[in-house]
Amino acid sequence: MTMRFDHDSLAQRVRFASGGARSNLAAEVDLLGSQRIMVVASSAEKELAEQVTAGLPVAVVHDEVVMHVPTDVADRARSVAEFHDVDLLVSVGGGSTTGLAKAVALTTGVPIVAVPTTYAGSEATNVWGLTEASKKTTGVDARVLPRAVIYDAALMVSLPVDLSIASGLNALAHCVDSLWAPRADPINAALAAEGIRALNLGLPAVVDDPTGLDGREHSLYGAYLSAVAFASAGSGLHHKICHVLGGMFDLPHAQTHAVVLPHVLAFNAPSAPEAAVRIAAAFGSDDAVSGLAMLRSKLSAPRALRDYGMPEDGIEAAAAAIVAAAPASNPTAVTQDNIVTLLQAAWEGAEPR
Ligand code: NAD
Repeated sequence: MTMRFDHDSLAQRVRFASGGARSNLAAEVDLLGSQRIMVVASSAEKELAEQVTAGLPVAVVHDEVVMHVPTDVADRARSVAEFHDVDLLVSVGGGSTTGLAKAVALTTGVPIVAVPTTYAGSEATNVWGLTEASKKTTGVDARVLPRAVIYDAALMVSLPVDLSIASGLNALAHCVDSLWAPRADPINAALAAEGIRALNLGLPAVVDDPTGLDGREHSLYGAYLSAVAFASAGSGLHHKICHVLGGMFDLPHAQTHAVVLPHVLAFNAPSAPEAAVRIAAAFGSDDAVSGLAMLRSKLSAPRALRDYGMPEDGIEAAAAAIVAAAPASNPTAVTQDNIVTLLQAAWEGAEPR
């Protein structure tokens, strides 16, 4: 078959070194010539932020971080940035923290250097998200792409194992969904496959040895690749489902992804044979669905949406919203009936059908 595609790569420096965050961040601040830094970190992430920003010209530390970036929270952070006339945003934390720095960058144009402490991957995308009155809006803007990402697996060892698993499966979902998302292409597919391989190796090692760096490094590397693949390929069915569920029922982000992923994989794999072969190979398995099932069993992965507060009587309405949002190019045709079946299984924690 002829190979033909258009691919955008996002310009960003990545510095990856366990134990190296402080010196790598200082080098980035030097390169940018920053004099007045706004550090964004939630109260749980503050200690890590203090470690990595020690000795830098910090004008203000801002810790009001809320998942999905409510607009009033974003407005307050923007006022703080303007009041202190900051010239660099340094985010130290998970996707919620990176998301708040992005909200500030979106309106002020102040650059970001991101120091991630989960596997969410927001640091490698030009996607922002804001929530108003329970409705999350996302968009793409070059201003929100961090100039540089400082990865340090030593910052991950404090992330509790259950959160590490959910967050790592969120990263895995970026990889899998990239293989059939609207702008899927051979380059993001190659990144996604390597991301799956690295996460499949790293996450069980995190469970076996949560304070060891080996599993953390592989998982972080896989999470970065997953986010690059996702930023390039766009949101596929899996992301549309999680977006609808998260918004309608205020479900936790990473856990929702972790529960939904096997159901979407089982739903799409029969109609996406090339992607299925690629996913299976990346898992070192004969079959994509069983490769993921094997990893999930090693991790005791989150299983049921009902455990995270989704009401069963919300399934029909969620399915209707998902059918409306699903990409037309999804490999398996999406209908109200088959999405209700998928959601019912994910709600109960049944085996994917
Ligand atoms: P999160 O940032 O809310 O973090 C989860 C919890 O873990 C928080 O309580 C946080 O304080 C804590 N935490 C983080 N790092 C820690 C560490 N090293 N040690 C101890 N505790 C730590 O959750 P998340 O899953 O990382 O991010 C979710 C958000 O990111 C969602 O709003 C999602 O929409 C967004 N996101 C955006 C993109 C994008 O491209 N824009 C991509 C992925 C996720």
